[in-house]
Amino acid sequence: MQKMPLRLHKLIWLFFAASLLAFLWLFLNFGWCTDEIRELELKDRHIRVIEGQLARLQKQQDKLLKDLENEKQKHANPDTSNLPNIYVITPTYARLEQKAELTRLSYTLQHVINLHWILVEDSYTKTPLVTRFLQKSRLSYTHLNVPTPEEYKLSDTDPNWLKPRGVLQRNAGLKWLRDNFNPSSGKGVVYFADDDNTYDLHLFEEMRFTRKVTVWPVGLVGSLRYEKPIVQDGKVTGWYTFWRPERTFAMDMAGFAINANLLLEQSEAKFSLHVKRGGLESEFLTSLGVTLDDLEPKANGCTKILVWHTRTEKSSLKNEEKMVRKYGKGSDPMIEV
Ligand code: UDP
Ligand code: MN
Repeated sequence: MQKMPLRLHKLIWLFFAASLLAFLWLFLNFGWCTDEIRELELKDRHIRVIEGQLARLQKQQDKLLKDLENEKQKHANPDTSNLPNIYVITPTYARLEQKAELTRLSYTLQHVINLHWILVEDSYTKTPLVTRFLQKSRLSYTHLNVPTPEEYKLSDTDPNWLKPRGVLQRNAGLKWLRDNFNPSSGKGVVYFADDDNTYDLHLFEEMRFTRKVTVWPVGLVGSLRYEKPIVQDGKVTGWYTFWRPERTFAMDMAGFAINANLLLEQSEAKFSLHVKRGGLESEFLTSLGVTLDDLEPKANGCTKILVWHTRTEKSSLKNEEKMVRKYGKGSDPMIEV
């Protein structure tokens, strides 16, 4: 056999060695590649998971934004059609401070939705001042009048507790309600608001869903910081007043509201001119046929003052005449005060 030349022999060995190296190189590289691919695949899967979560969150955000928009809309245009109407009966009489009192009260009432103001003048005719005032008031209102007979009027020197005030006027308001309130067109609540008191707007929402009679404290009344119903276990059990707490309903006019249906059911219930001192409210509620058990304590279990029996100081005109004497001219009677 012919011997292979040495050169060829070396070449073959070289070829084998190079092949081995190439193989090793490929093997190692191929191994690294699979690691990288696996890592890339993992990252890809992770990205897809995050993308899925993002899409879900975006959907949630869209829904929340829509809900927020709806809430804003509702807030801007609340559906008040189902809210019970509040009928506020106010007796009023001509005096220097009348327009100031009515202005203050009407501005309070303007903030209350579904409210109808029954303003009853203690007068023989409807006065131009009150007529013009109501026309400009932007309130839903009814203007009535009935005079208190002279013998039932307080004189300037009488103490204010001697005779009840605003009796026939409140009764005129009740009569109007009995003639005009229609229970089939919605619920109604009746509140007697004197023209000189001070009312927190929350009071009206406390009374809005009155089932029979709602009650709460009244501030600055009865020569006390407040008078209030005494409440035990959610029920009225008596009265925190200095003066005659034994009265059945020892409450000020500002301290209760009644369901309008009660007026229709008790068609004879009204205020009386012939009551014992401080008996006006108690006898009226008795004529409505209610008992202590029917009273619904409001204003956080009768612990909050939401109405004050404020009284306005009588204004002095002592300088009017002096003006004329000293300067020859007094105030212009054409300027309405
Ligand atoms: N009032 C009335 N005629 C009068 C005196 C008072 O209509 O001769 C009205 C008054 O405008 C108020 C309510 O009756 O809305 C209660 O009167 P007032 O505030 O003088 O009573 P008080 O605060 O002393 O209880
Ligand atoms: Mn008053």
